[in-house]
Amino acid sequence: MFNFVIMKRKAVYFDNAASTPLDREVLQVMEHCQWEVYGNPSSVHEHGRKARVELEQSRRTIAGIMNVSPSEVFFTSGGTEANNAILWGCALDGRIRNFITSPLEHPAVLRPLELICREKGMGLHYVKNGNTGHVDLEHLSLLLGKYPDALVSLMHANNETGNLIPVKAVAELCREHGALFHSDTVQTIGKFETNIQKLGFDYAVASAHKFHGPKGAGFMVIKGGREFSPIIRGGGQERNMRAGTENVYGIAGMAKALEISAGRIEKDMEHISGLKSELIRLLYENIDGVQFNGDAEGSSLYTILNITLPARVDPEMLLPALDIEGYSVSTGSACSSGSNKGSHVLEALGRSGTEASLRVSFSRYNTIDEARGLAGVLKKLCTG
Ligand code: PLP
Repeated sequence: MFNFVIMKRKAVYFDNAASTPLDREVLQVMEHCQWEVYGNPSSVHEHGRKARVELEQSRRTIAGIMNVSPSEVFFTSGGTEANNAILWGCALDGRIRNFITSPLEHPAVLRPLELICREKGMGLHYVKNGNTGHVDLEHLSLLLGKYPDALVSLMHANNETGNLIPVKAVAELCREHGALFHSDTVQTIGKFETNIQKLGFDYAVASAHKFHGPKGAGFMVIKGGREFSPIIRGGGQERNMRAGTENVYGIAGMAKALEISAGRIEKDMEHISGLKSELIRLLYENIDGVQFNGDAEGSSLYTILNITLPARVDPEMLLPALDIEGYSVSTGSACSSGSNKGSHVLEALGRSGTEASLRVSFSRYNTIDEARGLAGVLKKLCTG
């Protein structure tokens, strides 16, 4: 019998828009909860009360960071569920008759909206985007003029290109027309100063695993605590808005992760923006014909960079080649990484879908040497 020892170097992780590594301090909080706070928060005995205290403390922490009241925060299993709950909830209540969204939204918004509008006979209207992928505010205003009884759903930062919407301008337009404003804020919560009051969202959503928290925990912010019909029924948890025993360890971990991220946003922003600019600089310098999708050097989230390489690179081989070189990145949407479906976002931006494109997404754990290493490998793939 032979014993094979395979020496494998650790791959560099540049897929943080898909998921981030757990912060060690978060893990400690979750471990403590797992051993010490195992009661059901709905139970009235001491163990249950202890879990309830943990849950409500987490809610207060999150609400404080979002600048909302704890009664406006509702826990979910993540971003997909929170988006579905809000969109279905508003549709079921009959307060709106139309939805206005963009073809560049995440599937967690596009797919439920298609189903809702088909099943409930509601109007679904897509706002136009300019060629860098920014929302056409004039067209939005036109649509709102026609459909004031609408809910506008526009994501804060696009998960593929990083493009940011002008939140305050969109909120203002919605307010002027009496429409509701939902934003898929999954990519920005924990990475931006997310002051819900200041930004003007009626509904926002978060997913803990995007900011170094655990998978399976998220929340929705509902301004004014406006109640709507829940999609998950069978218990009175979350003030009847989301049935099911709360994921106490996950929620406590999420609150800790958000507290840590919120406390270091400026430092992380400076560090990560530096990585992104260095990668852009090196790629421009070394790869003739490289292109950046969206508004990479303008109004764009500092953690995401979407790149299209020149035609000589085989799109099918790009991801496997980078994987062999020790770099984990994705092409297309986070949800379709692993599948070879083209990106609906890049397609909407006029890309053919046959080009070699990749999304590099950074976190505070990435280093400048890693960014330089990736630039070197991309150069090799383009020239080799
Ligand atoms: N919305 C956006 C913009 C995302 O990037 C993602 C995850 O990739 C989701 C929603 C889904 O979040 P979750 O994984 O928590 O369901």
